[in-house]
Amino acid sequence: MRFGVHVSVAGGLHMGLRRAVQLGCDTAQLFLVNPRAWQSPPLTDKAIELFQNTRQTEAKWISPLIAHMPYLPNLAAADDDIFEKSIAALRDNLKRCDALGIDFLVTHMGRGEGHGGTARMREGIARAYGDDHFNVCLLLENTAGQGREMGSQVTDLCEFYGMLPEGISKGICIDTCHAFAAGYDISQKESLRKLIQEFQQYIGFFEVKVIHVNDSLKPLGSRVDRHAKIGQGMIGTEGFHEFFANTKIRKLPCILEVPRKSDEEDIEQLQLVRSLAARGPK
Ligand SMILES: [Zn+2]
Ligand SMILES: [Zn+2]
Repeated sequence: MRFGVHVSVAGGLHMGLRRAVQLGCDTAQLFLVNPRAWQSPPLTDKAIELFQNTRQTEAKWISPLIAHMPYLPNLAAADDDIFEKSIAALRDNLKRCDALGIDFLVTHMGRGEGHGGTARMREGIARAYGDDHFNVCLLLENTAGQGREMGSQVTDLCEFYGMLPEGISKGICIDTCHAFAAGYDISQKESLRKLIQEFQQYIGFFEVKVIHVNDSLKPLGSRVDRHAKIGQGMIGTEGFHEFFANTKIRKLPCILEVPRKSDEEDIEQLQLVRSLAARGPK
């Protein structure tokens, strides 16, 4: 299986790749912009060149490369100002991804209400793309269903997925913490199988391209999005052993987005998930 972590890009985007190599990642996720700001300095030719050079030399085994949208945008926002800024942010990230040759761009489902929210989000995505084509594959991530978060249930996520503008390169990202908090017990063979079957029934499980592997601090169905380190949450090591034993899951690149204080902790977590995956089916 391919495992990686969400890496910091302190010191430049290419440093994110360098960190991924140092941690022993097979794949990696990064932010291309400041995740807590609406605007970031433009991407310079120098930064692109450094990134490409690092990718083609020391980081050539790191694949796929995944970018994550910043925290502030809400593509389902009822507020016009936030909505417009969210559209601009998505478009900006799409452009940066293509300039850097990023494979996937993950965006959470927005926070909105019912069908008004999904219609709004569809419009937001359509406007971010405009008439342009982007090579990067846009991934919709399931949510924990906290507050007004949309897309915590597979049916809702798939329904929205089917509404996406035609012709865009798209897929799904499943976050294990979010799924668990939304009521899907991915630590149990049968309920995991059911979750996969639900995707299969609506859009096909092959639309799922990336897994975010996070333990959940809060219980099953709590609808609270609090990531825990693997083995230190309610899913637990045996739960992840079961999860990684599934042959459909084993084909997908997995990214850790767990709390961390040092590189050593990332390395330990990577070792742990690899050992759980290596144990194979129960
Ligand atoms: Zn996630
Ligand atoms: Zn989360």
